[in-house]
Amino acid sequence: MARTVWDEVLDCEGVEVVSTYIEPWPREGRPPEKVLIIVVQPETARRRRCPECGARGKRVEADIRRWRTLDVHGKRTFIESEVPRIICPEHGKITAAVPWAAHADRFTAVFQLHAAWLAAQMPWAKAAKELRITWDAVESIVTRVAADAASRRDRLAGLRRIGIDEKSWGKGEDKYLVVVTDHDRGTIAWIAEGRCQETVGEFFDALGPERSKLLTHVSADGAEWIHDVVREKALQAKICLDAFHVVKWAGERVDELRRRIAAELRAAGKEDQAAALGTGMWALRKKPEKLTGNQRTALAVIAADNKQMYKGYLIKEQLREAFKVKGDAGKALLTGVTAWAYRCQIPEFKKLAKTLSRFKDLICATLDGGPSNGRAEALNAQINALITRARGFRSAAALMAMAEFVYGGLCPESPY
Ligand SMILES: [Zn+2]
Repeated sequence: MARTVWDEVLDCEGVEVVSTYIEPWPREGRPPEKVLIIVVQPETARRRRCPECGARGKRVEADIRRWRTLDVHGKRTFIESEVPRIICPEHGKITAAVPWAAHADRFTAVFQLHAAWLAAQMPWAKAAKELRITWDAVESIVTRVAADAASRRDRLAGLRRIGIDEKSWGKGEDKYLVVVTDHDRGTIAWIAEGRCQETVGEFFDALGPERSKLLTHVSADGAEWIHDVVREKALQAKICLDAFHVVKWAGERVDELRRRIAAELRAAGKEDQAAALGTGMWALRKKPEKLTGNQRTALAVIAADNKQMYKGYLIKEQLREAFKVKGDAGKALLTGVTAWAYRCQIPEFKKLAKTLSRFKDLICATLDGGPSNGRAEALNAQINALITRARGFRSAAALMAMAEFVYGGLCPESPY
């Protein structure tokens, strides 16, 4: 049979178009929706095939079934076909396979790829509306497409430098995920629900002892329960602290100090100076090279009026610098900044000095060629953004599917 425009529209091998027709669907208060139905049949060679083994079976009975496929000219479109039940010599009575959809799916393969691609680009509620399917259908499509893509690829192969982090994805003690990132590829390698040693242990079980031996660096935050599992399962791997976590600790101390000094100034009736600290909040937090003109001015005001605050800020920036220069120079800076924080008479920074001393070896491992900061930080920020966007996600499963999908390198190209 010659290929028609419809064959091209369907974009699927091994299918013959039998006929097409429009079916009016009643709508409340509006004229009926015109739905396009494309009646097809598998090519002769693909008929009566067992979905499990591909063997040809004996036809016993048949149903007419429909699959939602991509819209045609704005019209909802369904593929309609007679699907026989067959007797497979090996698998018994079973519904025959069709070329355009996986067994038991209600959507065609191209529709699912497009829907999953769309779901990776926008909030799911919006994708659902655009596709005219339910939110639950988006969820199950993404889960299915992600699982299918994951099954065809071994994302645990070749892992050398990884990061292990726990992340909260909602209110409550049970809403935690363990995310393993591949620092070399900049992707998510593994993700699971939970926040305990067993969860991290599951990752190492999946990785297996042989491949665990190949890990050279494992980065994490200060969660020592994670470090303990790594020491047990991958003895040779250097444990490092992600630089952005360490700089974040310093940033938190800067914030604490700023709040305390502002409260003290207010109590002493110095509202102006307290307000200047509020204005300078972002200036104190940001990287110096990203400051705006106004933020530079705010910082200069703090430097002039508030020696203690400015000292805290400099300690934080010095720490950031240590990760920038790395190696022995970075270690020298780290030693210097730790000593400075101990001596500086600021309780918030004394606390920081203690933390830095405690994790000194792990920080030095980072300075000695641990995973590069920029990539890890960027991926971390993307995952956090996804979690923020995930307020609409009702289950960890959906969130995990989405995270793996978008940042695990599983997202398909749109079939368009
Ligand atoms: Zn079979």
